[in-house]
Amino acid sequence: MSSASTPRIPFSVEFYPPRDEEAEERLWRAARVFADLGAAFVSVTYGAGGSTRDRTLRITRSISESTSLLPIAHLTAVGHSRDELCALIDAYGEAGVTQILALRGDPPGDPLGEWVPHPDGLLYSKQLVELIHERGDFEVGVASFPEGHYRASSLEHDAEVLVEKLRAGAEYSITQMFFDVDDYLRLRDRAVAADPEQGAKPIIPGLMPVTSLRSVRRMLELSGSSLPKALEKRLTAAAGTGAEEDRAAVREVGIEFATELCERLISEGAPCLHFNTLNFSRATQEVLANLGMAPAVGAGGGVVLA
Ligand SMILES: Cc1cc2nc3c(=O)[nH]c(=O)nc-3n(C[C@H](O)[C@H](O)[C@H](O)COP(=O)(O)OP(=O)(O)OC[C@H]3O[C@@H](n4cnc5c(N)ncnc54)[C@H](O)[C@@H]3O)c2cc1C
Repeated sequence: MSSASTPRIPFSVEFYPPRDEEAEERLWRAARVFADLGAAFVSVTYGAGGSTRDRTLRITRSISESTSLLPIAHLTAVGHSRDELCALIDAYGEAGVTQILALRGDPPGDPLGEWVPHPDGLLYSKQLVELIHERGDFEVGVASFPEGHYRASSLEHDAEVLVEKLRAGAEYSITQMFFDVDDYLRLRDRAVAADPEQGAKPIIPGLMPVTSLRSVRRMLELSGSSLPKALEKRLTAAAGTGAEEDRAAVREVGIEFATELCERLISEGAPCLHFNTLNFSRATQEVLANLGMAPAVGAGGGVVLA
């Protein structure tokens, strides 16, 4: 599985804003690990419908002020008026957070439910990209979808939407979590076919080493993505037939699979590997260590383990 000859490429991580003190301590432990490992950036999610507005701002500001990591603040348009969005964007600028991932967001409560824009708000994330650029000197990223956004009328239209967001001034996209490299490669091809110049901007693969079958199923259900049949079979076999899944066995398969996925992405020229960490560092570090991009977990070197 591990390969000393795998070339090193940048990696980055996603955090979510913690709800309590214990969760916050975990985030800072993970932040120290990833700072030591040289993460290219850390993106911090924005809770459904703006529910973490203040926490996302506070955490990204603290990352910017007290670590060597580059924070990217996710910002969603859902539920906000244009004026509220302007105030939020300005607050990021004042906090020294100049990187924003511009998203539309999902309907709060039921992510797959009907989308209703705020009466004084925005309809699509492309407009948020434009608004952010109007407010100041920000670098903006957007979302992309290897399996197509679940509301897209076709994969071709989905790619059109992506290049429109890039034309509006986004510099790169980060993908929805996926488990089939071919989906990522086909998205890349569709984006270049839709617009050779814009489509060539970095499409950063969003990844997650599976450590729990139950929780990954739940996350995929909410995002409209899927597990490839072969992986689902391997994970289900590892989970066993007991009332509780065998977490250690699932984790082993999840990390092995994520390593294989990353190896293929690296060989296919992915610009960066972006890990959805749930504010834990260990599984991601194990994958990076398998790739020869980090010391093994527990191998010293001053890395604080979570
Ligand atoms: C990397 C990543 C990070 C995320 N982080 C968060 C987060 O922190 N918080 C959160 O709440 N959600 C987050 N999401 C989820 C995201 O908000 C949802 O997937 C949302 O449904 C789509 O957002 P978008 O920015 O792609 O929307 P848009 O680009 O606006 O697209 C939304 C839908 O409208 C369609 N569309 C767009 N433009 C047009 C047009 N001109 N004409 C017709 N149809 C159009 C698209 O095909 C798509 O179906 C994230 C997703 C990704 C991939």
